[in-house]
Amino acid sequence: MIDLISAMLELTKEPKIAYFSMEIGVHNDIPTYSGGLGVLAGDTIRSSADLRLPLVAVTLLTKKGYFTQDIDDKGRQVERPTVWDPSEYMQLIPYKTTVQIEGRDVGIQAWLYNVKSLTGGNIPVFFLDTDIKVNTPEDRDITSSLYGGDTTYRLKQEIVLGIGGVRMLHEAGFEIKKYHMNEGHASLLTLELLNRFKRPIEDVWDEKLVWDKKSVTNLCVFTTHTPVEAGHDKFPYDLVGRVMGEIIPISTLQELAGREALNMTKLALNLSRYINGVAKKHGEVSQSMFPGYEIHAITNGVHSYTWTCDYFKRLYDEYLPGWANEPEVFVRVGRIPDDRLWDAHTDAKKDLCGYISEQTGMVFSPDVLTIGFARRATAYKRADLLFRDIDRLVSIGDGRIQLVYAGKAHPRDEQGKQLIQNICSYRDRLKDKIRIVYLKNYDMRTALKLVSGVDIWMNTPLRPLEASGTSGMKATHNGVMNFSVLDGWWIEGHIEGFTGWSIGPPAHELTPGTDADSRDAEDLYYKLEKVIIPLYYNNRHTWIRMMQNAIGKNAYYFNTHRMMRRYVTEAYIR
Ligand SMILES: *Cc1c(COP(=O)(O)O)cnc(C)c1O
Repeated sequence: MIDLISAMLELTKEPKIAYFSMEIGVHNDIPTYSGGLGVLAGDTIRSSADLRLPLVAVTLLTKKGYFTQDIDDKGRQVERPTVWDPSEYMQLIPYKTTVQIEGRDVGIQAWLYNVKSLTGGNIPVFFLDTDIKVNTPEDRDITSSLYGGDTTYRLKQEIVLGIGGVRMLHEAGFEIKKYHMNEGHASLLTLELLNRFKRPIEDVWDEKLVWDKKSVTNLCVFTTHTPVEAGHDKFPYDLVGRVMGEIIPISTLQELAGREALNMTKLALNLSRYINGVAKKHGEVSQSMFPGYEIHAITNGVHSYTWTCDYFKRLYDEYLPGWANEPEVFVRVGRIPDDRLWDAHTDAKKDLCGYISEQTGMVFSPDVLTIGFARRATAYKRADLLFRDIDRLVSIGDGRIQLVYAGKAHPRDEQGKQLIQNICSYRDRLKDKIRIVYLKNYDMRTALKLVSGVDIWMNTPLRPLEASGTSGMKATHNGVMNFSVLDGWWIEGHIEGFTGWSIGPPAHELTPGTDADSRDAEDLYYKLEKVIIPLYYNNRHTWIRMMQNAIGKNAYYFNTHRMMRRYVTEAYIR
């Protein structure tokens, strides 16, 4: 305990940027993440540690995680709570705080996990936890499940994250110079800050002036991730009144967060000095969704060291020393001999084939063009686009391609679950022609095996719904090219025939009213047949040039080191 207290004193020595996220993937086996948002948060923290930035992160403990996914022989998703023990990874800190929920005091404790870098950097991550004796059984459950429960449950979680998080940092002795909200889930933190900056009532005539919005706004940075209105958390005011009480007067809250319902995005927009989307296109989409706010764009990245497989790490260490902490070094990728690049890729591919046979009993060949697709199973990602015309797929791909799929559907997303079932049924139907697997329980560990072990990484979102996407960036770190719809980051990373290939026309050539599915599927089949398959089997030299370009032009840029340098110069120190 003495050690922990002195460690805390060390951590609180200098003022910090506080990074708030509903989910953070700090480690594969700490199941406090569900997908892209959490992995991005983890990569943000890992790069911050490497760059020795003064940052502290806050999230929820989620003791049952998101869920562990099984898939039965009919292709149906089976969900189990993830069992894990926080004390194996983190330490309980000797500070507590409380928030008011439904009129009760709810106690919060926090676990500390340090993300350490070889550069000597260290980022403390606090996991808030309501599972303590003083709380009622129901309140002890508030931080149990990530994205579980109903609207009331979600609001309670967001009170713990936003309000509880600010209070916990204060209890622990942190001085905070910026609050960065990674998505709107954390935006109740602004209400706690408003209360901090409350001026004495006798100063003013108008009650509203009591709330010093400007001081709060100067402290806050907001990153939005959702390009559709329906994706933003909204809470009816009767619920807010019942669960949260009048933490600030309801009329002031309505002014800041919307008349009809408490809109978490709106609240963050109104109280942040710097607001950004997560790719150039997403910045524009957000700007048109929220006119009247100035919305910037900082394109996402991935943590290079985390998302490079061992074979490529060794290769980079040999030919591009210093790459892990300075990914710009990838510009010199041409120094790696072609045969070494190909051998590293083949080794990673063999590892994936081994994993597939271990998991499914299916025998994949390292000599066959392998296409990977793994992401949240949800309708707009169109995981089954490739199967729109089965006969055509078979005539193009018989004996020439094999397919690896993975991804979880949210437990309440029936359409998403149906997608998994559909792919499993195609797997069975085409088994003598095209080998297909659906790997269960997509997590960070399987993600790395997949993005490094396939030959091309495919993404087929319905535009403009992919805010950024990051798995394709991971692929580029392993010399794997993208074959994707021009949405999110790929609009910026794509150079046709150099870094990869597009599916469907560029965004500015979209004609309204055309059936996006058939148009995109048509292009997908055409390029696969006429461009990609011939290139893979007949022109290895050009294929390897493209692998180099994926590294030298895409991994070079789409990393969180570059991203964090931009957050520092454009958002944090302004
Ligand atoms: C990187 C990653 C994601 C996000 O990938 P997208 O391309 O943004 O869909 C989701 N889940 C896991 C486990 C990941 O590693």
